Amino acid sequence: RPPRDRAFFGHPLGLMTLFGTELWERFSYYGMRAILLYFLTDTIANGGLGLDDALGNAVVAAYGASVYLLSVIGGWLADRMIGARRSVLYGGVVIAAGHVSLSVPNASFSYLGIVLVALGTGLLKPNVSSMVGDLYSRDDVRRDSGFSIFYMGINIGSLFAPILVGIAREIGGYHAGFAVAAVGMAIALGFFVAGRHLLGGAGDVPPNPLTAADRPGVVRLVLAVAIGCLVALGIAALVSGGFTTTTLIDALSYIALAAPVATFWVMFRSPKVTDRERSRLRAYIPLFVAAMLFWMIFEQAASTLSAYARDNTELTIFGFEVSPAFFQSVNRASIILLAPVFAWLWVRLDDRPPTAVKFAIGLSFAALSFLFLAGASALAGDGKSPWWVLVVVYVIQTIGELCLSPVGLAATTLLAPRAFKGQAMALWFLATSAGNAITAQLVQATSGASPTAYFGGIGAVALVFAIAMFAIAPWVTRHIYEGTEVVGA
Ligand code: GLN
Repeated sequence: RPPRDRAFFGHPLGLMTLFGTELWERFSYYGMRAILLYFLTDTIANGGLGLDDALGNAVVAAYGASVYLLSVIGGWLADRMIGARRSVLYGGVVIAAGHVSLSVPNASFSYLGIVLVALGTGLLKPNVSSMVGDLYSRDDVRRDSGFSIFYMGINIGSLFAPILVGIAREIGGYHAGFAVAAVGMAIALGFFVAGRHLLGGAGDVPPNPLTAADRPGVVRLVLAVAIGCLVALGIAALVSGGFTTTTLIDALSYIALAAPVATFWVMFRSPKVTDRERSRLRAYIPLFVAAMLFWMIFEQAASTLSAYARDNTELTIFGFEVSPAFFQSVNRASIILLAPVFAWLWVRLDDRPPTAVKFAIGLSFAALSFLFLAGASALAGDGKSPWWVLVVVYVIQTIGELCLSPVGLAATTLLAPRAFKGQAMALWFLATSAGNAITAQLVQATSGASPTAYFGGIGAVALVFAIAMFAIAPWVTRHIYEGTEVVGA
């Protein structure tokens, strides 16, 4: 028998627990999300909630931004009160309750369900990820490869969920679809509970538990957050001249953009962060910016790219008519095919190129995918692009995703100040939240622009940032490893 430390594809057995948990959690997350918009906007007679399209889209976007924004609460609870392992457990229970609530054919239960899923995901998602990092020592070269395997689990769940949930919806309606998501989350919980003893104590205790002396600080923190949210709402109301759904979307965008700034600020100021950690944190800022731009492009799969599939793409593939939703699967299928290659590649290259260069490459690919789409759409003129254009766009993005996303998760666990383990992981997901927020503002500001101008403009700006990232990569790398040398000295 291989030793426990190498028993799961050469990785610690605890990775199997986290792999299975996150596979099924993502199954439930993306399964539910695949039919959420249709559910919200379908007529009440058809079993939907009867929202108009614009409002339905806004609710879905706000939901996406909130899920990743709520990671902050999950990270904080794990760091200061209950530890990562229990956060994942409680988050899982809340998510499962949310899906069960969504399974009840009643509008109030449905909204309650959406809120519960968002809250529970905020508790679970950053912490299950940071626990993967806990399985490896600082200098273990398997860290990136371990995250690549973990990432493959995420995408196996994401690939199959829309298919199974879609079939359940065909047969039994929306609530039957949500029930399938609930079953998936129950399996995730089962995996986690059954495999918890394999985790080797990862996430058992909060790294920076609250003391009585901290209490006034916590009260100040809660007050500051509440005031910040009210100010964002006030500004949004002024900008939109009233209280509409747009006001809420705008307020959420402001909060999503302010949250990472505030989180960085708190970490930099904390006396619990050592000088060495502060230096690493400085190196994390450019990584964060690159990740935010990457996710801004990447997450448009659900919005502008979905629209491009529906409105500007030939949907006949080898004589078969396909649904525009088909293109969503291209990314997940490519991840599953390419993740093992990348996991092998990073170990093979002995963890070179350094993280900062991988980020620059990842962002370059994202930029190129939009520039390619801009070119293709210019060529198509008033006609439609052939189906393979979007397939190529998604494959290019996926190569970028594999350079940046699993590597980013790994880098986050490595660069996190010890007292802010969970919150540093939340910061990583705030890049996705902020990227979504930028998109929410951009699509409103550029409505009417041609696809060529829109995708070309974003692609060009992202490429400039990618080049800058290549330029400062040596500085980032120096700051990341500086600390490690001090440890050895
Ligand atoms: N698709 C990945 C997941 O669900 C990445 C999400 C993200 O960080 N934006 O975990």
